[in-house]
Amino acid sequence: MDSGAAKPKDTFMMMTKMSYLKCMVCGVEIRPLDLGHYDPTEFEQQMWEGGTVDKLYMPYGSRFDGNVYVFAMCDDCIETKHKEGVIRLKSQG
Ligand SMILES: [Zn+2]
Repeated sequence: MDSGAAKPKDTFMMMTKMSYLKCMVCGVEIRPLDLGHYDPTEFEQQMWEGGTVDKLYMPYGSRFDGNVYVFAMCDDCIETKHKEGVIRLKSQG
């Protein structure tokens, strides 16, 4: 067993076992709405209290090409960044 530094995949798995993540903007903790149905392998499909958790797939052209990050963002920061024009609401349909 390799006891060296965690590889990116190991780090990803450690993150998915967490029952909460911190908002990437303000740091507030975002927790699953229903821990009874919390599945750490499908965390991005959970319901989160006051925010969201999702994956960020880094594409070709990025110096982080191939990395998959897990991030959380709270509703307040979503609202603020939307008003600032930093993030956009994808049009429906
Ligand atoms: Zn926030």
